[in-house]
Amino acid sequence: MAKTYDLIAIGGGSGGLSAAERAAKYGARTAVVEAGKLGGTCVNVGCVPKKIMWYGASIAHTLHDASAYGFSLRQEGFDWSQLVAERNRYVANINTWYHTYLSDSNIDEISGYARFVDNHTLEVNGERYRAKHIVIAPGSYPVVPDIQGAELGITSDGFFALAEQPKRVAVVGSGYIAVELAGMLNAVGSEVTMFLRSEHLLRRFDDMLRESLMEEMLNDGVNIISSSSIDRVERADDGTLSLFCAKSGQVQSGFDQLIWAIGRNPSSGDLGLENTDVVCDAAGYIGVDAFQNTAVPGIYALGDVTNAPQLTPVAIAAARRLSDRLFGGMEDRHLDYSLVPSVVFSHPPIATVGLTEAEARASHGEAVKVYQTRFTPMYHAFTERQSKVAMKLVCVGAQEKVVGCHIIGFGADEMLQGFAVAIRMGATKQDFDDTIAIHPTGAEELVTMR
Ligand SMILES: Cc1cc2nc3c(=O)[nH]c(=O)nc-3n(C[C@H](O)[C@H](O)[C@H](O)COP(=O)(O)OP(=O)(O)OC[C@H]3O[C@@H](n4cnc5c(N)ncnc54)[C@H](O)[C@@H]3O)c2cc1C
Repeated sequence: MAKTYDLIAIGGGSGGLSAAERAAKYGARTAVVEAGKLGGTCVNVGCVPKKIMWYGASIAHTLHDASAYGFSLRQEGFDWSQLVAERNRYVANINTWYHTYLSDSNIDEISGYARFVDNHTLEVNGERYRAKHIVIAPGSYPVVPDIQGAELGITSDGFFALAEQPKRVAVVGSGYIAVELAGMLNAVGSEVTMFLRSEHLLRRFDDMLRESLMEEMLNDGVNIISSSSIDRVERADDGTLSLFCAKSGQVQSGFDQLIWAIGRNPSSGDLGLENTDVVCDAAGYIGVDAFQNTAVPGIYALGDVTNAPQLTPVAIAAARRLSDRLFGGMEDRHLDYSLVPSVVFSHPPIATVGLTEAEARASHGEAVKVYQTRFTPMYHAFTERQSKVAMKLVCVGAQEKVVGCHIIGFGADEMLQGFAVAIRMGATKQDFDDTIAIHPTGAEELVTMR
C-alpha cells in the first residue's frame, strides 16, 4: 500500500525544501524526495560554491591592487586545490546540516528518483507514495550542444569538480554563468577565451551593463570572440582541444579545458509526466498559473522547472507562498514575479532590478526618463588596475517612478538589495533625491544623480 502524506516535494533543492519546510511548520505531514544531494543546484553546484570561487578571484584582484596602497607582498602562487578543498568542506557541512534539519522538522527524507505513476501517486525505488499535494521542483540541468566532440567539454557541474586549475580555458556562452566562470578563472590566472554566438554578453540585460562588462572583461585580459558558433570540437595529439566554427572558418586551438555554459533545460523529461495530465511547453517547462497550479489539481510546480527567473530566492519565495496558501489559510498568497532583483558575480559585479531602458521605452515611449552616471570609484583612484562603476535609473511618467535600476562596478552586489525594497514600494526619483547620501560610498551616486 502506498504511504501517504499531506505534501510531497519532488527535489530537495531550493524550491522543494522550502515548500516542505513551510508546510511542516503548519503541521502538515511532509516528505522530500531527492535523487542526489540535499540543497540541490544552489548548494552543490551553483550559488554557494560559485560565490566561494568569486571571493577567491576577488582576493586575487585585491592582491594586485595592494602595492598601490603601500603593501609590498611576495606572492608565492595560488593553490587551486586548497580553495576547492575548503569550498567542498563548506558545502558538505551544509548537506549534513540539511539532513539534521529535515529530521528535526519532522520532514521525511526519501532518497531516490521520483516518477509519477498517475496524477496522485509517485514511485521511488519501487515504493509508492501518495499525497494530497505534490510539488514538482526538480530544477534544471546544463545544456551540452549536439555537435561532434561536445563530450570533450564540461559544464558548470564539471567546473565544480575540477581538481586542478585549467591553464587555457574556452568558455562557450554569453549568459551569467559563462561570464561568472570566465571572470573567476581569469582572475586566478587561467588564460580564458569566451566564445559568444552573438555580438554581446548577457542578452536581456540593460545595454549599459552589457557594454560596460564587455569593456571590463577585455581590459582584464579575457579574450572574447563574438559571432562564433562552435560546431565541432577535436582533441589534438598533445591532448589539447581545438574548437571549430564552420561559418567563420575559424579554428581556435590549445585549450586544456572547455566549458559549455550555453543555458539550462528544465528537468521535466524523466518524471513520468506522461502518466499525468500535467502540461509542459515545447521547451519542457511545466505550465503553471500565478499560484503555481499545474493543469492537475493538487500538483504544483515551481523553481527552474517552470519558466520563471532561474534564481534560488525566486524558487524559495514561490515555494513558501504556496505552502502558506495550502496550509496557512492564506488563500491569495502567491509570488509576484515582477521586480526580481539579481546579481551577476562577474568581475566587476552587476546588480539589476526592473525594466531595462529598452523595455521601458518599448512599453512607455516618451514617458521614460533615464539618469545615468559612470565614474572611477575611490578604491581605484590610484591603483594600476582600473575599473569603472556605471549606474542607470530608468524612470517613468510625470512622477518619475523608478522602474529599473542597473549597476555595474565595485560593490554593486551589496548595493542593490535596499534599493530593490524602495523600488518595490514605488519610489520615485524625488524619493531617491530626498534620501541623504552616505558618504563616501559608491552607492551615494544613486541618490545624487542629475
Ligand atoms: C553555476 C550556477 C550558479 C548559480 N548562481 C546563482 C546565484 O548566484 N544566485 C541565485 O539566486 N541562483 C543561482 N543559480 C540558480 C539556482 O541554483 C537555481 O535557480 C535554483 O537552485 C533552482 O531551485 P530549484 O528548487 O528549482 O532546483 P534545484 O535547486 O536544482 O533542486 C532540484 C533538485 O531536484 C532533484 N531532482 C531532480 N529530479 C528529481 C526526481 N525526479 N526525483 C528526486 N529528485 C529529483 C535534483 O537532484 C536537485 O537536487 C545558479 C545556478 C548555477 C548552475
